[in-house]
Amino acid sequence: MSNEKLQSASKQVLAPLPYAENALDPVISARTIGFHYGKHHKGYVDNLNNLAAGTEYAGMTLEKIIAATAGKVDKAAIFNNAAQAWNHTFFWRSLRPKGGGEPPAVLKKKIEAAFGTLDACKKELATAATTQFGSGWAWLALDDDKLKVVKTGNADSPLTKGMKPVLTIDVWEHAYYLDYQNRRADYITAVIDKLINWDFATKNLG
Ligand code: MN
Repeated sequence: MSNEKLQSASKQVLAPLPYAENALDPVISARTIGFHYGKHHKGYVDNLNNLAAGTEYAGMTLEKIIAATAGKVDKAAIFNNAAQAWNHTFFWRSLRPKGGGEPPAVLKKKIEAAFGTLDACKKELATAATTQFGSGWAWLALDDDKLKVVKTGNADSPLTKGMKPVLTIDVWEHAYYLDYQNRRADYITAVIDKLINWDFATKNLG
């Protein structure tokens, strides 16, 4: 195999969107998805491939790159792009057309054990998403075996805190500004009520 082929085989690939760009309309418009997936998400993957080329990080999984670079000041650029690539792929799967509603029983039971009620869980997630100052993410995550709401800044994720992500909401302005301008809370409420993919979250419990 030529060097060129070896190098291309080790590159990160932009994971396909799990639905059409207009599938989340009108909660999230096709225009927003077009920029968010086609420019922002793709940009993180491309940047990562450029930064990793010829280094020990070429050919590593995203999870390994994230674990190897988290908290290292001199590796911030590669961490940020790897974590953003991972977070976005996870985010697209955390949503689905005609989402929201009731979680499957196994997840609902776990939510009630941790938060009391589904509504209390949704409220805590919405508060985390709304109050994250500046760019970042709101998450439902497993800490040992208990569900928690976590918010992280910029590219950070529960992975770097030893937790297992269950679902996430992107609260960077690029996620909502074309559709909601400064009304982040309206975007959050609509996403939780109409798009959250509880089936994906349930799969992440295992
Ligand atoms: Mn984003």
